[in-house]
Amino acid sequence: MLGSSNQEISATALIGRLTLTLFIFIISTFVRADTIKIGVRAHIGIEKSTLQWKKTIEYLSKKIPEHKFEFIPVVSLKKLLEQAVNNKFDFVITNPSSFVEMEVSAGATALLTLRNKRQGNPYNKFGAVIFTRKENTSIYSIHDLEDKTIVAVSEPAFGGWRVAQREMLLEGFPPYQKAKKIIFSGGIQQNVVEIVQLGNAEVGVVRTDMLERMASSGDIDLNDFRIINEKKTENFPFYHSTKLYPEWAFVKMQNTSSEISKKVTLALLTMPANAPAAIVGKYVGWGVSEDYQPVHNLMKELKIGGYQNYYKNPFEYFFSKYLIQIIVTIIILVCLFFSVLYVLTTNRRLVSARKLQNKLMGELEERVIERTDELLKAKEVAEKSNNAKTEFLSRMSHELRTPMNAVLGFAQLLQQDVEQRQLTEVKENVEEILISGRHMLDLVNDILDFSRIEDGKFSLELTPVLAEKLINKVIHLLKSQAEEKEITIHCEFDEKDEIEILVDLRSTKQVLINLMLNAIKYNHIGGNIIIEISEVKNSYCKISITDNGDGIEESALAEIFDPFERMTKRTTVEGSGVGLAISKSLVEAMGGEIQVESIVGTGSTFSLLFKLVH
Ligand code: ADP
Repeated sequence: MLGSSNQEISATALIGRLTLTLFIFIISTFVRADTIKIGVRAHIGIEKSTLQWKKTIEYLSKKIPEHKFEFIPVVSLKKLLEQAVNNKFDFVITNPSSFVEMEVSAGATALLTLRNKRQGNPYNKFGAVIFTRKENTSIYSIHDLEDKTIVAVSEPAFGGWRVAQREMLLEGFPPYQKAKKIIFSGGIQQNVVEIVQLGNAEVGVVRTDMLERMASSGDIDLNDFRIINEKKTENFPFYHSTKLYPEWAFVKMQNTSSEISKKVTLALLTMPANAPAAIVGKYVGWGVSEDYQPVHNLMKELKIGGYQNYYKNPFEYFFSKYLIQIIVTIIILVCLFFSVLYVLTTNRRLVSARKLQNKLMGELEERVIERTDELLKAKEVAEKSNNAKTEFLSRMSHELRTPMNAVLGFAQLLQQDVEQRQLTEVKENVEEILISGRHMLDLVNDILDFSRIEDGKFSLELTPVLAEKLINKVIHLLKSQAEEKEITIHCEFDEKDEIEILVDLRSTKQVLINLMLNAIKYNHIGGNIIIEISEVKNSYCKISITDNGDGIEESALAEIFDPFERMTKRTTVEGSGVGLAISKSLVEAMGGEIQVESIVGTGSTFSLLFKLVH
């Protein structure tokens, strides 16, 4: 029982709630349908606007009594647009650019165009006037506005600025770039005229008929002003500097029903010129909507009111959107072009350089071949002549030694005979024959040795030899020659050191004899010879033989190792001039080196470098 009573209560509550909701819905629908909201651009301020349009609203309420008309004045164009977009109005009365913005962004439609009353006549078009004070003698055309101060009422004002701005652009004068300053006075357009009158700006911009209106009310004298870029249009008696555009529009919003639109349109179209609404509203009536395309065009050109991203053609769009990328690409392309050009030029230069190089190489090769041929021939000739020389020397030496030995043998027999018979008068002559003969034989032997070495007809056997021991043997051999000239030999080494060199024993002995004999021969009586042994770089042993004898001229040093070169001024010193040449050949054949340092009058040092045995 209790459960069923509860169910009844909840069913009653539900029906009650549904009824209430339905009622609210019907009421709200009725109210929404009944109240027609008309937004108005209140450019002259809320108060004046309300005064201007109040009668028009009353007129509509009277003509269409089934609806209530609400008047909503909005000063700011931005706010007016915002509210229109947010469906706050059914209709809007506004200036052409404001309407076009609503058309673009909120799908609004112009139903009618205002037939404005000016000097008692209807006008459905208007424009802008650009003016200056007559006494200003520097401004006659739009181009004279360069570096001048311009004043207008506000930036979005259609007749008060945009129309003039477009005209300036059409004349090739971008005002924001070229004018000195643009002042927007705010408030009403009369202020603009006053600012120019006071000289606070050189140029003013107002909508058409403003100057005439102020003149007729006695505020200004038209003769005080000059109109810039003045235009003449048939049936339009007011000063104007620009094209003319359709007057304010009566605008239907997208969601407004066509039924109410029809009723409102009909009511306004049939409004008589003497209706209080028209008189108070300062207009003659409303006409069929004018073509607002010129306003669209203006806004496209100025890129305003929904046309911020409008471009005349795809190229303009492309260029303005990708300007930086285009510039960067062009720079890269130019750089690339020059790089390629540079590479090509360098390549061309390289190719021609290579051609020249190949040509020169060819010529060089030819010359090398020619020269090599010549050198080979010259070498052959030299070898032939050298062989001939060596053969000649060896033959001659051999041929000379046999008779020379015979001469010496017979001279010795003669010497014995002379001594036995005591033939004192020929004794000296016989001794002279023997001395000269021996010298001759020495000469021949030296020449023979040298030619053998030159021919490579001698064999070397490199064995470890104790340097100190070998030197002492040589000193012993030459002892008597040194004593003859009272020469002292100083050995600056210790035999216990046992320095072992890798040499051919016989050849090294011969070299040491040659050098030490020269140190004795080209020394003075009582001279000195110093012999030193030292280890030098890269496992070499240096044997130096220093004398304090004649010394050798610096210019002659380079030639003393050449065969048959004798530098000495001593005519009595015997020698063949091949001793040093033989020594050099032998030392080098053993992998060693011979060096000389000498100062004339001070003495000479001959050094031998031989490999050490490790
Ligand atoms: P030579 O048989 O004339 O000594 P060498 O070939 O041994 O021939 O020497 C060539 C020349 O070098 C000598 O004639 C001499 O003028 C010069 N000479 C060689 N050794 C010495 C030295 N120790 N002092 C001065 N002059 C020297």
